[in-house]
Amino acid sequence: MANKKGFNSTVLHSDREGKPEHGVLHKPIHPSVAFAYEDARELAEVFQNKRKGFAYGRQNNPTIEALSQKVTKLEEGMASVVFGTGMAAIGSTLLALLRQGDHIVSSAFLFGNTNSLFSTFQELGIEVSFVDATDVKHVEAAIKDNTRLVFVETIANPVTQVADLVAIGDLCEARNLVYFVDNTMTSPWLFKPVTAKASLITNSLTKTIGGHGNALGGSVTDTGLYDWTTYPNIYDNYKNLDPAQWGITQIRKKGLRDFGASLAPEAAHHISVGSDTLSLRLDKACANAMAIAEFCARHPSVRKVFYPGLPDHPQHARAKQLFRHFGVLLSIELDDKVDCFDFLNRLELVVSSSHLGDNRTLGIPVAHTIYFEMGAERRASMGIADSMIRLSVGIEDTEDLLADFEQALAV
Ligand SMILES: *Cc1c(COP(=O)(O)O)cnc(C)c1O
Repeated sequence: MANKKGFNSTVLHSDREGKPEHGVLHKPIHPSVAFAYEDARELAEVFQNKRKGFAYGRQNNPTIEALSQKVTKLEEGMASVVFGTGMAAIGSTLLALLRQGDHIVSSAFLFGNTNSLFSTFQELGIEVSFVDATDVKHVEAAIKDNTRLVFVETIANPVTQVADLVAIGDLCEARNLVYFVDNTMTSPWLFKPVTAKASLITNSLTKTIGGHGNALGGSVTDTGLYDWTTYPNIYDNYKNLDPAQWGITQIRKKGLRDFGASLAPEAAHHISVGSDTLSLRLDKACANAMAIAEFCARHPSVRKVFYPGLPDHPQHARAKQLFRHFGVLLSIELDDKVDCFDFLNRLELVVSSSHLGDNRTLGIPVAHTIYFEMGAERRASMGIADSMIRLSVGIEDTEDLLADFEQALAV
């Protein structure tokens, strides 16, 4: 397919690019761990990065490679590596690229496990500055001589802050820093981080891209914008390659290969099939999220609603300018007279569950669960009240969802 197709045509037909195996429409699930070569010299050339091919299932296989290419197309990047989970993608990539004594600047508004991971990095001698990334000036003020990378999420969990994505991209370009954007909350259907000059993009494929809560996975995409010849931590082994490949090769070898958090081929198949309907699901789920946000904003039993689609959200204008829709995640703070556990129990359609980006609407009391380990002080600094409920909105019929909220809030 020569000319550039739209998002849906691209995602739907990506498995047929090249020569389809046996003419099948879905890329087959290849469970083989090992790959046989008729000519032993070819095997050696694959190991030496002189020839494309598969060496061992931990690093790649044809099913995994097909999903990697699909993700690369969705993100309009240069190349991707997929991992067993989103956390594996973030952790393995950063450990592949950073060394003791390096410094990174990270948004303070982070997915809880990413926050926990970064505190482990601090124990290992990698400095992390947590800043309010909704304004580029906080990021700029934190940059030091040993800063290698800036990490942000597009829409943060659970308070839905929107990072100053474009200005941070300009800053990273000017200061020659790797700009690593977690696009999970928006996905490439709502936002393309490459348009904000991201160097690396991560997606938890477990969330909206897979979309059905039946497979874990994560990805890292190199957009091709960062010049890896200027990056101090590239190992000499990879410098015989085309410089465009240095970063992604180091991530694949030092990250995926050495830490070994590989994606299972069966999971890759589930994620790939799920991704076929990404735009359809998100259009519906984001419309539902908007309707619930507006309903809750008017309801006297709800004290606060956090959703970038509402005009009083601090970064509403930015979200409107950058994102196709405002996402599937919203959080509400209930009035004191409503107990958050009782409220969740009264909801009939909405399931009490920690997941995000499912087809079903899910709700969770965040201070008591996913942000419990963080402690009251850090929660307060992130604006997380004890009564806060995070909702991940699904694709149910809008009127059924609104009726469910109406009855559960009527006390
Ligand atoms: C879920 C999530 C992750 C981690 O993904 P897993 O696949 O669950 O490991 C990372 N970042 C964000 C923003 C997430 O929501």
